Amino acid sequence: MVETSPELSVVVPFFNETGNIDPLFQRLLPVLDSLGVTAEIICIDDGSKDDTHERLIAARKQAPMIRVVKLSRNFGKEAAITSGLDIARGKAVLIMDGDLQHPPEVLIPMMEALNRGIDVVYGLRKSRKTDGAVRGPLSNMFYRIFAQTSEVAIPAGAGDFRLLSRRAVDALKSLPEQNRFMKGLYAWIGFSQQAIPYEVEQRRTGASKWSLGHLFAYAWHGIVSFSTVPLRVWSFFGGFTAVLALIYAVWIVAKTLVLGRDTPGYATLATAIFFLGGLQLLSIGILGEYIARIFAETKRRPIYIIEDIQQGPPDADA
Ligand code: UDP
Ligand code: MG
Repeated sequence: MVETSPELSVVVPFFNETGNIDPLFQRLLPVLDSLGVTAEIICIDDGSKDDTHERLIAARKQAPMIRVVKLSRNFGKEAAITSGLDIARGKAVLIMDGDLQHPPEVLIPMMEALNRGIDVVYGLRKSRKTDGAVRGPLSNMFYRIFAQTSEVAIPAGAGDFRLLSRRAVDALKSLPEQNRFMKGLYAWIGFSQQAIPYEVEQRRTGASKWSLGHLFAYAWHGIVSFSTVPLRVWSFFGGFTAVLALIYAVWIVAKTLVLGRDTPGYATLATAIFFLGGLQLLSIGILGEYIARIFAETKRRPIYIIEDIQQGPPDADA
């Protein structure tokens, strides 16, 4: 097969998205046509249990530019995107969701920005109306904490919907970590970045795989992957408690010297023991979080495993 790199690669992760596949291509293909660029669409089937894979293969009959990558199991969206970036050959790479929450038409202004020399053009959700009353404020809080604790800030409302230049993609590929907190990685690589506001749409069919619990875990994961502040605050707490303890000791000694022996302070003792015990357990727990990540990184396992790739003219499909 001739390996000429297309001008654009579109990377789309799919996990149980049967109902969204045809509608997605119906909207995406005309946009690619109107741009008049040579393109490939890399569809990652992230271990779907429904007939997502069959549908993707069927779509190749209409559009041979579709390449279908099947991962050997569900590795999660971030790993799926990573595999897509590794495989993409385009001079620019668009990452978008497969549930039509990211309107393909936004690619047109994104392309304009890229052609002006911007390396990372990211979609910025205009409103968070699909988020609900709880998620919105919580996620804003996350972005604030993240900005304060880590060396890079990630813009609130920016996600995986983005267009990257080849050198931005290569920069991302050069980051070896197994824990792929993509939002942080996009910001970490630097380069010129520009936001294109868009109205996020309702997911077409199916349900989001993100519960509130997942989101909490994701936020915590993000902070721990990008900041050492949770590790270091304990020196501050330790120092602070030690100073307090010293002042208290001086006070007790002075009081005993002046007033004589006091009745034993059981409540004070118990409170101090429980409070310090709690703090110690908490700090050990935080240490554990980091050690767990070191453990995961040192195993150096691949981020994903590809079971099969179907590409090229569709009649070549087995
Ligand atoms: N996705 C994936 N693997 C997963 C979970 C999700 O590839 O384990 C894909 C999913 O098919 C969709 C995109 O990632 O194309 C975003 O997922 P979802 O809509 O569940 O997330 P949300 O839009 O709620 O953030
Ligand atoms: Mg979605």
